[in-house]
Amino acid sequence: MAGAIRDIGVLGGGIAGLALSALLAARGHQVTVYERDRAGGKLRRIQLGGLTFDTGPSLFTFPEVWQAYLARLQEADPLRLTRLPGGLGIHHTPFGALPLPVPPDHPLYEAWQQYMRAAAPLRSHLTALLTTPPRLRDPAFRAASGGLFRATAPHLTARYWLRARALPAALTHALGTHALNAGLAPQDAPALYALIPALVGDDVFRPAAGMGALLDHLIAFGQARGVRLREDTAVVSVKGPTATLDGGETAHHDLLISALDPARLTALQSKRKRSPVARRTVSGLALDAALPAPAPWPATNVLPPSDFGVFRRAVQAGVLPPDTLCLVHADGPRLGVLLTTPATGENLDPGHPWVQAQLSRVGRTLGTPEVLNSVLDMAALPPAHFALGGHPGGALYGAALPPWRGGPLHPQPYRLSDNLWQVGTGVHPGGGLPAILGGVLMVDQLLRERSI
Ligand SMILES: Cc1cc2nc3c(=O)[nH]c(=O)nc-3n(C[C@H](O)[C@H](O)[C@H](O)COP(=O)(O)OP(=O)(O)OC[C@H]3O[C@@H](n4cnc5c(N)ncnc54)[C@H](O)[C@@H]3O)c2cc1C
Repeated sequence: MAGAIRDIGVLGGGIAGLALSALLAARGHQVTVYERDRAGGKLRRIQLGGLTFDTGPSLFTFPEVWQAYLARLQEADPLRLTRLPGGLGIHHTPFGALPLPVPPDHPLYEAWQQYMRAAAPLRSHLTALLTTPPRLRDPAFRAASGGLFRATAPHLTARYWLRARALPAALTHALGTHALNAGLAPQDAPALYALIPALVGDDVFRPAAGMGALLDHLIAFGQARGVRLREDTAVVSVKGPTATLDGGETAHHDLLISALDPARLTALQSKRKRSPVARRTVSGLALDAALPAPAPWPATNVLPPSDFGVFRRAVQAGVLPPDTLCLVHADGPRLGVLLTTPATGENLDPGHPWVQAQLSRVGRTLGTPEVLNSVLDMAALPPAHFALGGHPGGALYGAALPPWRGGPLHPQPYRLSDNLWQVGTGVHPGGGLPAILGGVLMVDQLLRERSI
């Protein structure tokens, strides 16, 4: 049922804030987005060595969630998603290198099939799980969470789920790496995260024009519906539906929706919330490099920590692990490397001995160390950067929730009061863009149920 037109302020112009703004404006609301920096948040475009780079997210998965978003907005898909060769990439485990998905001619294919069968009860429910508000009285959510329960019970964490499968060591290690999609080691991540490779399969995409196209189109969807985007406009305090902006301007709205990390919103409300390092998800150092020639490497390469126990103890103690998760994306002359770090807000730079050691490991493991010596130009986004606009310490997925509150089974902190709601990373933890866009659809549905 259509309600009154409202004046809505959205805090934060990341993917969540932009995506929700377009939906709200499509219903006729007057929407203003306040962004402290440039729109895009963790997805940003930079120039290096004469090339354009889209830093941040590089793998577009679960495209059904994006399709559901477009359907709600009544837009055709402008992204021209292109399947990436090699799916989730080569996983360089201590027990050998393993491509995921495992191809039919590989000796571990039978074990992979066994794993796929274990994930089967969840497959048809995943989109619903990612897009349906978690309410037990809702039959759609009950059916979806039933699928999750059948695939994962009685195991709470990714590690216990994997241990119960008794799969070969290389496969177990490679699958455990995907717990890091929740920003947590397999010991702490919900069991669902061990199933991600089965659920994604070969469906790993990137927009034909690069990830930045997602940002461009979300901005364009909003602009076409009258969204006002105010970049370089930081919110410095929030009281009810009123935001005070950097420079002293007071912005009164009927409704505020925070697309910020929840800890950041709490600070803007002058409330105190503890966030010890041990209770944060991981941060990272994102390196983008321009090369003189395409790297002779597969599109996606995953170097997991060799020991998840050692890795977990280090990140929880706030110290750099001896070897960390390194994600290496090769895209012609563009190279992206993400080194997982503890969320201490450290201003790591490429010359730091730990970074150099991790990069040497990448060069050695991928067999052509000279690629990294040929870099023409490089940009680094350290945990200190992610801390500026996100969770304390630069925790990429916000606070580390216990497994029963992580993933899609999180409680509903969407509506903080009648005129203050929230969406985005940390509210919809883990899973990256699908969780963010799915969370946008959930909040949009809950607002519509209130005729907003
Ligand atoms: C290196 C890296 C690699 C990733 N890889 C993938 C991937 O391959 N696939 C995938 O699906 N996901 C990936 N992700 C995750 C994905 O990028 C994020 O989940 C998503 O971009 C988060 O969007 P968001 O809008 O919730 O948060 P954010 O992008 O953090 O947006 C929050 C916004 O709020 C703004 N803000 C903060 N404080 C204020 C204030 N006081 N006033 C106004 N504005 C403020 C910030 O500047 C920011 O723009 C990756 C993330 C990173 C960092």
